[in-house]
Amino acid sequence: MRNSSSRGILDRLRAGVVQGAEGYVFELERRGYIKAGPYVPEVVLDFPDAVKELHREFLRAGSEVMVALTYYAHREKLRDVGRENDLERMNRQAVRLANEVAREGDALVAGNICNTWSYDPDNARESSHVVRAMYEEQLTWAVEEGIDFVISETNDYLGEALIALEVIQQFGLPAMVTLASVQPNTTRDGYDYVEACKRLADAGADIVGLNCDRGPETMLPIIAKIRSAVNCYVAAQPVPYKTDAQHPTFESLRTGDGQQAFPLALEPFLYNRFEMAEFARRAGAIGVNYIGICCGGAPHYVRAMAEALGKTVPASAYSPAMELHPMLGTHVEDKDQTFLADWKS
Ligand SMILES: [Zn+2]
Repeated sequence: MRNSSSRGILDRLRAGVVQGAEGYVFELERRGYIKAGPYVPEVVLDFPDAVKELHREFLRAGSEVMVALTYYAHREKLRDVGRENDLERMNRQAVRLANEVAREGDALVAGNICNTWSYDPDNARESSHVVRAMYEEQLTWAVEEGIDFVISETNDYLGEALIALEVIQQFGLPAMVTLASVQPNTTRDGYDYVEACKRLADAGADIVGLNCDRGPETMLPIIAKIRSAVNCYVAAQPVPYKTDAQHPTFESLRTGDGQQAFPLALEPFLYNRFEMAEFARRAGAIGVNYIGICCGGAPHYVRAMAEALGKTVPASAYSPAMELHPMLGTHVEDKDQTFLADWKS
C-alpha cells in the first residue's frame, strides 16, 4: 500500500468529482515512444523520462490520478513482442514512475489492468485461470511498489471484468471497473452495458462505467442509463473524437476515401478543448463522479475539462488570455485592426 498522506479515491469521490486522464499509450505512440500495432508500453523501460513527463503534464492539467502505465504490460502481450523476460521489471517500473510524479502534487496512483485477449467465454473455466494469473502477478508487483486503488479498463467481457474485480478485492483495494463499448449495445459475452455495470456494482465494484471507444456524443446516453441503474460511483472516460449515431465508436469512423481512420488517421475527427470542456460539464450534470478522457487525450483537454468543473489547476497559470493576443485582443490598435481586416479578406 502506498504510504500517502493524500485522501484516498473514495474520500475524494465523496467530496466531489474526481478528474482523471488517460490515453498514455496513444499519446506516447504519437510522440514516437510506443509501436502502434502491439501497443506494448516498452517506453516504461526504454524512455522512463518520457512517461514521467506525460504524467507530469496530466498532473499539472488537473488529473488527480496518475495511472501506472501497465496497460498491455501483461504476459500475453509481452510475449508478442519478445519481451516476456521484462514483464516484472516493466510493471514495477511503471508504478514507480507514477508514484514519483504523484508526489510532485497531490495525486493518487492507480494500478492498471485491462482486457487480456486471453479470456474465452466458450472456455470460461480454463481461460479464467490464465486471466486471473496475469492479473494476480501484475497487481502483486503493483501493490508492492505502492498503489492507492486499481483501474480495470477496456473490458470487452463482463466475465473477464468480474475476474479483475475479484482479484482487486483480494488485495483489499478500491476497484474502478470500466467497460469497452465497441459493440452497439452489449459486451462481447452478450450483456447490455447497463446490465453489465449493474452486475459489477452488485459484485462490489466501487466505481463502474465506460472508457475508450466512444466519443462523448455516443458515450453519454449509455452513461446516463448506467447512472440511473447503480448506486455506486460512475466513471466516464471517452475518446475525444466525433463519434455519432452512424459511427458510434472511433473504430467505425471512416476517412473521406472510406478507409478506417482508427487508430492512426483519426486527427480529422478530433474535438477541440471547448467541446471536451462541454462534455465534462454535461457529465457532471448527470452525476458522473469520475470524469476523464481516454485514447487521443492530451493535457490541453484535461485542463479545459478540469476548469469546466470549476477547478483551478497548476497549468491554469498558463490558460488562454486571448485579450492579450496581438491580433485578436481587445487592446488592438487601429492600424492592427486594418492589418487584421486585410489579412482576413
Ligand atoms: Zn482508450
